[in-house]
Amino acid sequence: MPKPIVFHVDVNSAFLSWEACRQLSENPDAADIRLTPSIIGGRRELRHGVVLAKSIPASKAGIKTGEPIVHALKKCPNLQIFPPDFSVYRVKSDALMELLRSYAPCVQQLSIDEAFCDITGTEKLYGDPVSFACKLKQEIFDTLGFTVNIGISSNKLLAKMASDFEKPDKVHTLFPDEIPEKMWPLPVSDLLYAGRSSVQKLHNLGIFTIGDLAAADPNVLQQHLKSHGKELHNYANGIDPSPVESETDAPKGYSNSITLPFDCTDRSDAKGIMLSLCENIGARIRKDNAFISVVSVTIVDADFRKTSHQTSLPTGTNITDVIYENACALFDNLWDLSPIRLIGVHTSKASDQCYTQYSLFDTEKNEKLEKLDMAIDSIRLKYGDNAIKRARFLGDDKTKPTED
Ligand SMILES: [Mg+2]
Repeated sequence: MPKPIVFHVDVNSAFLSWEACRQLSENPDAADIRLTPSIIGGRRELRHGVVLAKSIPASKAGIKTGEPIVHALKKCPNLQIFPPDFSVYRVKSDALMELLRSYAPCVQQLSIDEAFCDITGTEKLYGDPVSFACKLKQEIFDTLGFTVNIGISSNKLLAKMASDFEKPDKVHTLFPDEIPEKMWPLPVSDLLYAGRSSVQKLHNLGIFTIGDLAAADPNVLQQHLKSHGKELHNYANGIDPSPVESETDAPKGYSNSITLPFDCTDRSDAKGIMLSLCENIGARIRKDNAFISVVSVTIVDADFRKTSHQTSLPTGTNITDVIYENACALFDNLWDLSPIRLIGVHTSKASDQCYTQYSLFDTEKNEKLEKLDMAIDSIRLKYGDNAIKRARFLGDDKTKPTED
């Protein structure tokens, strides 16, 4: 059996890098906002909104992701602020995933700017994993124009921990024999899946580093943190048996999720993000001439609590608006106002029965929506993904003032 090798590829300051790429593609002489104090964040006029992504110079000025823009401006008065544009991000994300799939036998997209690649058994083809990762990182930069970190290990947990080491534009390894030196000295809050409330409980138990956690008695952890205590103990010891699963391995369905670089607490922001996820899902369904009949929404909060709800539709559909309306209803039922870290929308394929029902239940409104979606798809195919945008994505503020 070849030694398992997993890469975790993570775009550096994704939203800001991608905005920089967009500006440079429109005007090659434009200043590169990665090199100036700049952030992505919304609604400056309303003195509301948080930093979604920051450049390295902004970071050097002490600006943190998730902090209010007003604070960021106090730290750095000449800060440049650009609104988020999820339709640009989706194009960049898709291009990255396509490039990764052209090399790795199995790719699992984790969020808009992150993926696991299982490259086990490719050493003869690509050479040793570290030099292959360096080449891959360079090719991403040369062809797509942005930098990534790549973490390498024998499982997903360790690969993801490794990609979070020094940034940007770096390759790091964290193999099991490197755990004591590279992972155990880190604060326990740096451990993947250790949410705020777990970290507080661990601190109360006198556990401050990942090494403290690795050495702790798993029974005591279970007493105080239930089953999550045992899981965290395993993670601190580098144990993660979960395989890299590509979307094609999963039951046939169409999903998309995004891990947010901040904790989202605004319903309208959350729905804007869901619309972008649903647009991507709808376009893929229509491209396959498929219909879906189940929609589900997943929310992961800042403490990594995962909840999801699903609903069955009376007929199969391929209409973005229908998927989005159902996703919104599920979201409203599901969300308990806790800060959101990840939002996902999943759909499952309709059975054959639903195909026949589809025509029986067809309504005039749906026919119009379907035609509209197909028109949008064909314009995007011809002129690029940015040729058409929903009104809601035009300008960050126009759709929201009544809610503020
Ligand atoms: Mg990233």
